Amino acid sequence: MVDQRDAVLRGIKAAHTLHRDLGVRETLERSGGGQIDVFAAIGKLGATLMFQPLDKLLGAYVPAEEPGVLITTKRTLPVQRFTAAHELGHLYMRHQPSLDDQGILRRAPFAVTTRLERQEREADAFASMFLAPAWLLALIVQRQGWAPESLAEPAIAYQLSLRLGTSYSATCHVLERHKAISRTGRERLLSFEPKKIKRALLADYEPSDWRSDVWLLTDRDEGLLIEGGRHDLFVVRLRENSSAGYLWNFDELKAAGFALVADDQEGDDQRVGAAITRRVTAQSSGRVSRVVTFKEQRPWMPDKALQELHLQYELRGPEEAGMWEPELQRVLQAA
Ligand SMILES: [Zn+2]
Repeated sequence: MVDQRDAVLRGIKAAHTLHRDLGVRETLERSGGGQIDVFAAIGKLGATLMFQPLDKLLGAYVPAEEPGVLITTKRTLPVQRFTAAHELGHLYMRHQPSLDDQGILRRAPFAVTTRLERQEREADAFASMFLAPAWLLALIVQRQGWAPESLAEPAIAYQLSLRLGTSYSATCHVLERHKAISRTGRERLLSFEPKKIKRALLADYEPSDWRSDVWLLTDRDEGLLIEGGRHDLFVVRLRENSSAGYLWNFDELKAAGFALVADDQEGDDQRVGAAITRRVTAQSSGRVSRVVTFKEQRPWMPDKALQELHLQYELRGPEEAGMWEPELQRVLQAA
């Protein structure tokens, strides 16, 4: 047991050291949050990152003069990211070769009661802490204006998981580790299925595939880089001064190929001058990266916006077979 605890601590410490060495915290604090770029970190440590349609494995780490990391294409982006972080742990801590199946997802990353090979325990703890350090959690919570106790709510924990780029269950474990929730709080969160949370957000709309994520976006997300899956849904919720003639314009989203699947107003305050809340649901139709601006404007005065919301999105997940794209571009340019 002492050995297991020691392995967890070593993994956590290694994640902190690598954040510091790569300047990860400074970069994300400057940009106001976003996901930790685990794929880039693998490249920075000198390993080649490849995606392959692996059936039985989620990933593998092969140490050599030129080390390699292999990730399956057959799972969602958060699973690919977690697997990459686990393999990054093996790489950074100079472990023996490792072939990792989905056991890495089922294991509780900080538990010390089950027996596990030491390097696997180290890589599990490393992965969780590398993707979701306490300072990043604090950055997101502050930006969203969430009360600390609200992290025990499934809907909030789910939105947090999207912004961290970790699965819902991995997020629940890391919240407990950071003492943001209790052990019973974690067990309660894990008893909720993400599908149920998504269904509540989408109201009457039924997506064809419930594996797609549902982002709840508000003015708190101004300037955010949204990194997700190619069929993700956005529920955009914004105050609208419609009684003064202002309407939010979502044409840019339509022009970018999103399907607007619902457009509602919340609240029934009919008083003159009262603002209402507009709620638009849109679904991405494919792999797409773009910057969009939504404007609240009077339709007859399109040049004058009362408010604007700027979002960037990269809906690439899951990553496709081949060398990791940014690395491939770099190699091609050098050739
Ligand atoms: Zn492993």
